[in-house]
Amino acid sequence: MSSTPADTLGTSAAQARSAELEKQIAEDPGRFRVLTGDRPTGRLHLGHYFGTLHNRVRLQDLGVETFVLVADYQVLTDRDVAENLTEYVEELVLDYLAIGIDPERSTIFAHSAVPALNQLLLPFLSLVSVAELNRNPTVKDEIAHSRQSAVSGLMFTYPVHQAADILFCKANLVPVGQDQLPHLEITRTVARRFNDRYGNGTSVFPQPDALLSDAPLLLGTDGGKMSKSRGNAISLSATADETARLLRGAKTDAHRHITYDPTGRPEVSSLVLLAALCEGTDPARVAEEIGDGGGAALKRRVTEAVNEYLAPIRARRAAYAEDRRLVRDVLRVGNERANAVADATLKDVRAAMHATY
Ligand code: ATP
Ligand code: MG
Repeated sequence: MSSTPADTLGTSAAQARSAELEKQIAEDPGRFRVLTGDRPTGRLHLGHYFGTLHNRVRLQDLGVETFVLVADYQVLTDRDVAENLTEYVEELVLDYLAIGIDPERSTIFAHSAVPALNQLLLPFLSLVSVAELNRNPTVKDEIAHSRQSAVSGLMFTYPVHQAADILFCKANLVPVGQDQLPHLEITRTVARRFNDRYGNGTSVFPQPDALLSDAPLLLGTDGGKMSKSRGNAISLSATADETARLLRGAKTDAHRHITYDPTGRPEVSSLVLLAALCEGTDPARVAEEIGDGGGAALKRRVTEAVNEYLAPIRARRAAYAEDRRLVRDVLRVGNERANAVADATLKDVRAAMHATY
């Protein structure tokens, strides 16, 4: 298995905690505030969808206040230049709208448009040690896949920047994939240490929780983590034919009989899970139904399920894409709201640090 090092970092504990959180959300959605985001490095894919996007929409629809970040500065963590930035930002916002993030209820904004958020990075950096940053398994994995020959300061410190992303709006719930768990730990550490050092007995920041979905690590067609930048993704906006072609080429294994065994047969099981998520059924059942049909039958079934599931999303996306002004308007309003929130938080931070003159 091409595992993510974050595997070892308490995924099962985070899953148990997520189940507990789901109960609390159902009882009182007003207690929660969500922040999540994505880097504008390409179109969103099925890993994003079942790892985090679906949860964002569900939480939004339950009445949880939701902030969605277009992480444009963080594009530069693993490359020298943010290529096609304007185009990718537009693609990202169109994906958001197509899956059901509603800009009337959720705040969609960009890093580079919110100065006060970025300013939080300075005090936050002072709260973590270089050794702690060095230990982060997701950063190590991303460095291994980076397009840069040398590790930049931004790559090394971006989990702290993510702490600023989450804490600028005092979010306490972060629906993410498994790779984000080590970053969430850093955010919790930053919040705790800030409160201890400057809070004077009060809690300036919450310690946010990760909310994992049933697919915290969907695999791509090569058997590694499905990822925009690794050429192994099926994007939400792919055509039905492209989807079929990509899935036909997906890695499986030598055993004909299909089973659901995520540890022993990660590639086959990820495809089974994908079909089950799209069909709204149980992966074990999908595997049993395919049985001796083998990899070809599995791929046919997944293709049909994915294309059927995504058809309305793809249609909505195409309709939104007709109106080029829409994305600008969504971001303008979202940036304004995010700035108001960030200014208020920075004011609290400066007051706590006795830096108001
Ligand atoms: P890039 O390769 O440019 O880093 P990415 O595909 O890894 O892109 P991100 O923008 O880094 O996507 O991640 C956005 C969110 O989607 C994060 O919460 C992350 O955990 C989640 N996510 C990304 N890929 C997957 C996946 N394969 N399975 C589950 N969740 C995922
Ligand atoms: Mg990534």
